[in-house]
Amino acid sequence: MGNQVTRRDFIRNSSGAVLIGTAILSGADRAFAAPKQSLEKGTVIDLTVCDGCSAKNTPACVLACRTKNQDKFPKVDREKLTPYWPQKTYEDWSDKQDMTNRLTPYNWTFVDKVEVEHNGTTEQIFVPRRCMHCDNPTCAGVCPFSAIKKDENGAVTINDGHCMGGAKCRDVCPWDIPQRQAGVGLYMKLAPEYLGGGVMYKCDMCADLVSQGKEPACVTACPKNAISFGTKQEMIDLANKRAKAINGFVYGEKENGGTSTLYVSKVPFEKIDKAIKESKKQANDMKPGRPNMEVSIENKLDSLSGMALSAAIAPVAGIAAAGFAAYHKLKGGKQEHEE
Ligand code: SF4
Ligand code: SF4
Ligand code: SF4
Repeated sequence: MGNQVTRRDFIRNSSGAVLIGTAILSGADRAFAAPKQSLEKGTVIDLTVCDGCSAKNTPACVLACRTKNQDKFPKVDREKLTPYWPQKTYEDWSDKQDMTNRLTPYNWTFVDKVEVEHNGTTEQIFVPRRCMHCDNPTCAGVCPFSAIKKDENGAVTINDGHCMGGAKCRDVCPWDIPQRQAGVGLYMKLAPEYLGGGVMYKCDMCADLVSQGKEPACVTACPKNAISFGTKQEMIDLANKRAKAINGFVYGEKENGGTSTLYVSKVPFEKIDKAIKESKKQANDMKPGRPNMEVSIENKLDSLSGMALSAAIAPVAGIAAAGFAAYHKLKGGKQEHEE
């Protein structure tokens, strides 16, 4: 696992880092943390071009992601797996590492498939899913250890050396993107029976490749060129131009306050979202890992500036209070996932 830290490093870093993390909650503070627009990268996934790689056992983008990220996937000692108090269970995907039909700690992108009635015909639509790399990521805003950050290049990344696996990031992510693996990470060195639940994993936009001026592995691998990569502004322009040309729709430009992962479709995203939900209901699959596609999702961090202020004034009490309050406010009516 990369980004290993010692117990002393962690304690030293977390006290300062928590303040930075809570500061992200305020709109004003966000301005200094926001990536420079010109450096930000993004992708456009064209659903009119993606055919799900139907002729292959595994879609090329999924295979490329798994191959590229093998070294970053969790290495679990199954004999040490144990629930942490007061939980009775833990999340273990280590015996399902081959699963490619949902997001897991071992599978950071997958291709959903739905059928949608549109203009009198039944359309089969393939939807590659992964982290949206939000402009103001709610996942980062609630992480008490500041383990999640938005890089200058637009990628939202999780530091697996700091993550304690509390899964609050997943609870407040509008798409339930990060997935947890127990039995790995810092909590195993601290107090595995009382604190932490593992490490959260998700697509990191291939931040290492992007920082070298290269494109993400899934983009390179797509045989249909269904995924475009470029600056965020180029991608916004491309998505809107394409949508206009096909009399279609863009997803991700506004959702959760804007993201670096945009989709274009000739079918309204409301219909795609409805089809995903119906498909999950029929399969009795309501667990995270197969995201919905709700339209016009608001970014709830925008209403939390008062809590960030309290955290800054009274660091220790404020951190706990702000973290707790922010978490519950962001969670809203959303049902907490079974742990
Ligand atoms: S995005 Fe490209 S590689 Fe991925 S499923 Fe669609 S066509 Fe295949
Ligand atoms: S999609 Fe979810 S996990 Fe990804 S950056 Fe946005 S809030 Fe975070
Ligand atoms: S950008 Fe990289 S990490 Fe994310 S889905 Fe594509 S290959 Fe995987």
